Amino acid sequence: MTTAQPRHLLDGSHRRMFIGGAWVEAASGQTMETRNPANGVVIATVPRAGKKDIERAVAAARNAFDGPWSRFKPHERQKLLLRIAELFERHWEEICVSDTTDMGLPIARARGNANRVLGMLRYYAGMATALHGQTIDNSLPGDIVSYTRKEPIGVVGAIIPWNAPTAASVWKIGPALATGCTVVLKPSEEAPLTPLLIAELMAEAGVPDGVVNIVTGTGTEAGAPLAEHMGVDKIVFTGSTATGQSIVRASAGNLKRVSLELGGKSPVIVCTDADLERAVPVAAMSVFANSGQICIAGSRLFVARQIHDEFVARLAAYAAGLRIGNGIDPETEIGPLISPRQLQRVEGYLRAGSEEGARLVVGGTRLSQGALAAGNFVAPTVFAGVSDTMRIAREEIFGPVISALPFDTLDEVVRRANDTPYGLAAGVFTRDLSTAHQLSRRLQAGSVWVNTYHAIDPAVPFGGYKMSGYGREGGTDHLDEYLNTKGVFIRID
Ligand code: NAD
Repeated sequence: MTTAQPRHLLDGSHRRMFIGGAWVEAASGQTMETRNPANGVVIATVPRAGKKDIERAVAAARNAFDGPWSRFKPHERQKLLLRIAELFERHWEEICVSDTTDMGLPIARARGNANRVLGMLRYYAGMATALHGQTIDNSLPGDIVSYTRKEPIGVVGAIIPWNAPTAASVWKIGPALATGCTVVLKPSEEAPLTPLLIAELMAEAGVPDGVVNIVTGTGTEAGAPLAEHMGVDKIVFTGSTATGQSIVRASAGNLKRVSLELGGKSPVIVCTDADLERAVPVAAMSVFANSGQICIAGSRLFVARQIHDEFVARLAAYAAGLRIGNGIDPETEIGPLISPRQLQRVEGYLRAGSEEGARLVVGGTRLSQGALAAGNFVAPTVFAGVSDTMRIAREEIFGPVISALPFDTLDEVVRRANDTPYGLAAGVFTRDLSTAHQLSRRLQAGSVWVNTYHAIDPAVPFGGYKMSGYGREGGTDHLDEYLNTKGVFIRID
């Protein structure tokens, strides 16, 4: 596949945001820069929105919801989603280049996400004509028919992080279009460009003005006013647990509904009978893919003591062989971290690991040879001799760092794996069917993967237990997050 000329040159030009079907500046006239994390170069400026812009976007979304959009039939919303999927397919290379340049994802990985993202759009297209209430027999006196209706919840505020702008945007906007809601989406200030490109494709597909609005700005200046807004009926949020907590507090004003996809510290458990040929690369990439900036990173690697040393040695060899560089090179397997700030944060954890007595097996440093010096690169890192209480075993690092922890029995590993405030995902490697079933049942996590990892499908719910959030994305549960259920009673005697 060749690298297409991106529609936007990513050359430092100014881009506007999208409100009510128009490309607009922030009311304040302020702008902010976005940089390529592989080399620090400014690739665009975008409006730095504030409260007034959020007001404008919510008003546009409300007008569309009450007006033309409410008259769209399910099959028309379905056709729209299918057209969007078609345009995404046609412009997939531009989308990939945009993500790679704005947030560092290796282009080979970005390209590989096509089926997942297009599959999501087509899944929601299918669901648009499959929404229904129920007819329910009641025990009331008289002859009364009762049934439920599923109705779109209204204006949805979507707030997303920088680590997967395309998938996160589609996961928020797709169900809104399927159910008949409207959206104000605030991308991360670190990676706002692909959501703007997505808005362009949606407009081209014929999404009516005001149905999808993209407001670029920071968390406190644009995110917080959106979360607080009395005219927003629901917030769908993906990001850190701390921000999720402030979103919940901000929602109290009008008791808007909230769903949260938050952080994690996911365990991966490798049993003595695991197929190591498969387990080593999958366990490695469960963290190193996207340079560890993945909410489901399997960053606590529990390995059965009998195979621990061999596994760690093979993992280290795998990590050392990964090709690191600017993600725009199709050979690159590991790109940069998003920002100098994130780099410093990860370096802090690398120091903490060594200071707390973990043994550094591979990596452990920033990479700054040659061209890498201008970007935010960290070597894929494995620590062994980690204890459960160390910070690297407890806190979400969001960098390419694996902590290996030996275990002896299944009861013990279940207890230790569940001993975390998080509960987003878990991985298990075993060839024993009963171990697979027992662990999948006992692990407190929204997704459990056995002999694989990172399998996410539009039809299967994804989300967190405990402080990894609530609500589900994917599957019919996801559509329900965007719907109100109304009970109707009609006396017919
Ligand atoms: P973050 O919480 O700092 O920011 C996420 C978004 O929230 C950004 O758009 C930001 O501008 C906005 N924001 C920040 N403060 C806000 C406030 N007070 N009110 C409203 N909005 C605000 O997270 P991040 O650093 O961008 O992303 C990394 C985090 O996201 C990690 O913790 C990761 O685990 C999590 N994440 C979770 C999932 C999931 O599906 N569970 C997926 C990806 C990332």
